[in-house]
Amino acid sequence: MFPHISHFQIRNRGTVCGSVAHADPSAELPLALLLLGGQVVLRNRKGRRVLKPEDFFQGMLMTARALDEIVEEVRYPLAAAGHGYAFNEFAGRHGDFAIASVAAMTSKDSIRFAVGGVADRPRLVVLPRLEGSALDDAINDFAWELEARDDHHASAPFRRQLVRRLGRAVIEKAMS
Ligand SMILES: Cc1cc2nc3c(=O)[nH]c(=O)nc-3n(C[C@H](O)[C@H](O)[C@H](O)COP(=O)(O)OP(=O)(O)OC[C@H]3O[C@@H](n4cnc5c(N)ncnc54)[C@H](O)[C@@H]3O)c2cc1C
Repeated sequence: MFPHISHFQIRNRGTVCGSVAHADPSAELPLALLLLGGQVVLRNRKGRRVLKPEDFFQGMLMTARALDEIVEEVRYPLAAAGHGYAFNEFAGRHGDFAIASVAAMTSKDSIRFAVGGVADRPRLVVLPRLEGSALDDAINDFAWELEARDDHHASAPFRRQLVRRLGRAVIEKAMS
């Protein structure tokens, strides 16, 4: 996943907490945090609080962080035995922000599937371990739920199609 985050000059200067605090819907680190079920630790002068990514990311560049808080720490769970992981994205050029990014984590009975760059924030769905047309149908339902945006980079139908095509491929890769 890391090679997809812009170019090495940006990666060398950007920080993990900065990327999460910035909450760009196309950014890879917030997507991975949501997929893996990580945590965001916020601190102000009164103390700390720990939020799940689904509670932290609230919209386009919007988070639950209060004005007097900093992102002190971001916790990514370690890989678990028996789980499969895969990531892919589509961008205009290598290093550009993703038009759509997809990530999957699979276990023997579930599929966690996360999508970035399509909705106003990274989004996650947890599915049973489906295959064949049942999996296509579940991905398609999720693609529609995302309320994909139209902008000068791509249309909403194109973004939904990326979710279907790339999504299916990353889920199968994670399963294998
Ligand atoms: C040309 C270009 C291409 C890029 N492409 C990608 C890409 O493909 N994928 C990707 O994920 N990112 C991309 N980025 C973003 C980049 O990778 C950084 O993740 C992002 O800019 C954050 O950088 P930073 O850590 O320096 O934070 P800053 O840019 O310094 O801060 C970003 C925002 O978060 C706030 N902030 C920073 N740290 C904290 C903190 N600890 N607590 C609270 N608020 C904080 C700042 O006040 C600011 O509002 C790109 C950036 C550029 C300039």
